Amino acid sequence: MNAAISTASITHFIHGQRVAGTSVRTQPVTNPATGAVTGAVALANRADVDAAVASAAAAFPAWADTPPIRRARVMFKFLELVNQHKDELAHAITAEHGKVFTDAQGEVARGIDIIEFACGIPQLLKGDFTEQVSTGMDNWTLRQPLGVVAGITPFNFPVMVPMWMFPVAIAAGNSFVLKPSPTDPTASLLMAELLKKAGLPDGVFNVVQGDKEAVDALIEHPEVKAVSFVGSTPIANYIYETGARLGKRVQALGGAKNHMVVMPDADIDQVVDALIGAAYGSAGERCMAISVAVLVGDVADQVVQKLAERTRTLKVLDGENLAAEMGPIVTQAARERIAGYIALGEQEGAQLLVDGRGFDGATAGAGCDHGFWLGGTLFDHVTPEMRIYKEEIFGPVLACVRVPDFAQAVDLVNAHEFGNGVSCFTRDGNVAREFGRRIQVGMVGINVPIPVPMAWQGFGGWKKSLFGDMHAYGEEGVRFYTKQKSIMQRWPESIGKGAEFVMPTAK
Ligand code: NAD
Repeated sequence: MNAAISTASITHFIHGQRVAGTSVRTQPVTNPATGAVTGAVALANRADVDAAVASAAAAFPAWADTPPIRRARVMFKFLELVNQHKDELAHAITAEHGKVFTDAQGEVARGIDIIEFACGIPQLLKGDFTEQVSTGMDNWTLRQPLGVVAGITPFNFPVMVPMWMFPVAIAAGNSFVLKPSPTDPTASLLMAELLKKAGLPDGVFNVVQGDKEAVDALIEHPEVKAVSFVGSTPIANYIYETGARLGKRVQALGGAKNHMVVMPDADIDQVVDALIGAAYGSAGERCMAISVAVLVGDVADQVVQKLAERTRTLKVLDGENLAAEMGPIVTQAARERIAGYIALGEQEGAQLLVDGRGFDGATAGAGCDHGFWLGGTLFDHVTPEMRIYKEEIFGPVLACVRVPDFAQAVDLVNAHEFGNGVSCFTRDGNVAREFGRRIQVGMVGINVPIPVPMAWQGFGGWKKSLFGDMHAYGEEGVRFYTKQKSIMQRWPESIGKGAEFVMPTAK
C-alpha cells in the first residue's frame, strides 16, 4: 500500500447530504505546493444539476415564507460556526489553492463580514410606505425573493467569493445552488455542512461540483431565476449573454488589470510596501491584485530600484509555513501560462528586471520540488501596446509603465479595457480628489492598494470587469436577489360609485 498518497473523493451536496451523483467524470485536485494529487472531484452532468435544482425548488416556498428574523437567526448561528471553524476553512484553501495560510485566514475573515451583513436582513428588506397617495388609498413597496438562484465561482477565493453571494441570497429568502471551481472544491462542502448544522433546511443550499457541463445545465435550467458569476472575462461575457437571452437576472464579474498610480510626492517606502504586497500577495492571483505600476515623472528610477531589491528577496514558501509571503501557483497549467507571458514580455521589448522562472520550489519546503512554483517577476519600461500590458496575466508579474504627468496616468488607466480596481498614492488632496472623480474604474483606493469594498458597500468593477448592472453584496446584492413589488390599497369606504375610464390620478 502506498501510504503517501491518499485521495479524497469530493462530491456534490444535495438536499442536505454529500452525494456522488450519476456522472462518472472526475477531475484530480492537487496540492500546488507539492504537486501531489490529493483528491478527485466529481464533475456533474445535467441529471446531477437537475437533482440540485429540484431540491432547491422544493425547499424554496417554505424558506421564502420563513420570517426574515428567523432566517437571520440561522445566519447568526452560521456566523458562530464559521468563526469556530475558520482555520479549518483556511487550511482547506491553502491545501488546494496554495495561498499562504495567513492570507487564507484573511479571505475567510472577509467572507465572515458578508455573513454579518446578511444577519441584518430584516432591516435590509424593510419596504417603503406612503400613506394617502390618493384619498383613502396607501401605496407601499416590498421586496420578495426570486426563487432558485445560482452562484458560479472562480478558483482564487473558494470561500470568500461564494460568501459574496449565498449569505445574502439565502437570508433574502432564496434557495441557492453553488457551482464552485473544480480546482479547489473542498471548502464548498465544509460551508454546506456548517449551514446544515446552523439549522438551514435541506435543499436551501446545494453544491454541484463541475465544469462547463454543469454551468451550462445551471444557466439553461428554467427553474434558475438568477445567476451570479465571478471568473474570467470571456466566461463572464458568455454567462451574461446566455443568461440574459434566457430571461434571467445575471451579474457576471470578470477579469482585471489593476493599476497603481504613483505620484512624485508619494512616500516611496510606503509605495514599495504597497506594491510588493498587492502585486505578489496570493501570487498575484487576486482580481484586485496590482499588476501595473504607473510611475509618474522622476519617481520612477527610485521606485523601480527598490522594487527590484524587494522582489528578489520575497519569501516564496509552502503556504503552510507562517514565514511565507507568497506560495505556489495554483496549477501547472497556470504556471506555464504565466511563464509564457514572461517570455512574451522579453520578446516585446520590456526590460525584465527580476525573472521568477528560475525559482523551482527546491527551497520552498519539504516535498515542494514537484510543486507549481514561480518567483516574483518585475518588468520595467512596459508600454501600452504590449500584450503583457493589455492582457490579464493573473500571476506574480508586475509591469512598470512610466508616464510624464498625472493627466497621462489618468488617460492610460481610462483607456484600458478592464476597470476593476485602481489605486493612487499621493500626498496631494486635490490630485486625490481629481483622481477619484475622473478615473473610469469601479473600485478606487487613495493610498490604499487593494480597495476591496466592505460588506455593506458592494463590490464591482466597470467596463469588461463586470457584465450586468448590480454589484455583488451590500445593498446592491440585496436588490439583485429580490424583486420589488408595489401594492396600492384602499377599502370599500374610500371607493366612489361608478366606473372610471380615465387614467387614475390622485383624488
Ligand atoms: P474561470 O473563468 O476559468 O472560471 C470561473 C468559473 O467558471 C468556474 O466555476 C469554472 O468552472 C467555470 N468555467 C470555466 N470555463 C467555463 C466555460 N467554458 N463555460 C462555462 N463555465 C466555465 O476563472 P478562474 O480561472 O477560476 O478564476 C480567475 C479569474 O477570475 C480571473 O480572470 C480573475 O480576474 C477573475 N476574478 C474576478 C473577480 C471579480 O470580482 N471581478 C474576483 C475573483 C476572480
